[in-house]
Amino acid sequence: METFAIARVQLSFASIAATATGPERFASAFYTTLWSESSGTRELFPAGMESMRHRFTTAIGWVVNRLTDFDAVEAFLGQLARDHRKYGVRPEHFRAAGYALLFAVRECTPFILWTAALERTWAEVIGRLVETMATAAATDDLPAVWGATVVGHERVLPDVAIIRLETDTPIPHYAGQYMSVQIPQRPHMWRYLSAAIPPNPHGQIEFHVRRVSSGWVSPALVNEVRVGDRWLIGPPLGGLRVDRDSGQDVLMIASGTGLAPLRAQIMEMAMRGTNPRVHLFYGGKYPCDLYDLETLWQIAMTNPWLTVVPVVEENENPWWHPVPVRETPKGLHRTMYGKLGKVVGQFGTWSDRQIQIAGSPSMIRTTIYALSAAGTPRQNISFDPL
Ligand SMILES: Cc1cc2nc3c(=O)[nH]c(=O)nc-3n(C[C@H](O)[C@H](O)[C@H](O)COP(=O)(O)OP(=O)(O)OC[C@H]3O[C@@H](n4cnc5c(N)ncnc54)[C@H](O)[C@@H]3O)c2cc1C
Repeated sequence: METFAIARVQLSFASIAATATGPERFASAFYTTLWSESSGTRELFPAGMESMRHRFTTAIGWVVNRLTDFDAVEAFLGQLARDHRKYGVRPEHFRAAGYALLFAVRECTPFILWTAALERTWAEVIGRLVETMATAAATDDLPAVWGATVVGHERVLPDVAIIRLETDTPIPHYAGQYMSVQIPQRPHMWRYLSAAIPPNPHGQIEFHVRRVSSGWVSPALVNEVRVGDRWLIGPPLGGLRVDRDSGQDVLMIASGTGLAPLRAQIMEMAMRGTNPRVHLFYGGKYPCDLYDLETLWQIAMTNPWLTVVPVVEENENPWWHPVPVRETPKGLHRTMYGKLGKVVGQFGTWSDRQIQIAGSPSMIRTTIYALSAAGTPRQNISFDPL
């Protein structure tokens, strides 16, 4: 597809995303059309749609912004389509979704921008997206979901829990990937969590979860999950991965439970003889937010390729978690103070590194901004797309 045509599509989507109510209106138009045009599709979705609508608009935005790199789009949509099999989605549903998507962009793009040429281009783009997803879902021979049993639940902070499970059969994935999970306390409400340990033949898996206040599922994950609970886990997703062939060293930046996918990769690397150098900046507001620093220090002490740099904004723990601040072991990098992105940016442009960022969406955005301001090339940076 011509660059000019792609730019037209991107401009029209930007005109929807830029307004305060545009994304919500767009997602509502999509789902309302899908449900009315394709019978039985409403039952595939949860009753409360706020989180789905937000994720849908973010995913479409991600795809539209990368249309010039269709291989990346194909990889992402293929994973997403395989993931959708857990809802009972069939190939004809993707075609119905394509129709609803075209309706939603037409409905929400400002009238003055919408032309016959733009409609043709959107139809072509959507046709390719639909075919990619329908083919990926139809040709996948992995299960749509795996069953798993909770074998451990540990509250490491008032709002953070480490949850360990054993899957009935191992899920084929690689360190750095995430999966959607459904727990018995919140039926039909799937949420993504990143595996915090590398895959192993026993099907053991570990998730680190932070409670989001006003969230539906994360409070139950932190407060209500019990040993013996049965979970459903969807297929692995995501492309955070150290590219060993690039010859480049690695910069990893994590805050909070965003550590999980980076920790899994570091643990996997620790099982190998040689590795590229890895600098991990691990950030939080208070020292106690770095709940897994001890594990990282242990790995760094025996693996000279790994440097762990703790970064916090305050030097004392808060009154609601009055534990002593840990001393840095001799020979390891001392704690640095300030906003994570700014601290990382102080070290230069990191232009010779492959960079991974993991954390909350706002942390990822501000860190990319701070790195870009310091001169880091944008194409060196990876993060999970949603
Ligand atoms: C690729 C990916 C990997 C993820 N991995 C992990 C993980 O390993 N551990 C983990 O704890 N979480 C992880 N998450 C976030 C997780 O999927 C949920 O979004 C989060 O737990 C909130 O779910 P909820 O049902 O409690 O909140 P919802 O009911 O979905 O949302 C309630 C409100 O909270 C806001 N909100 C949602 N998430 C956040 C957030 N992170 N920070 C601030 N506000 C938020 C929403 O916009 C909404 O307004 C991951 C998300 C993605 C996309």
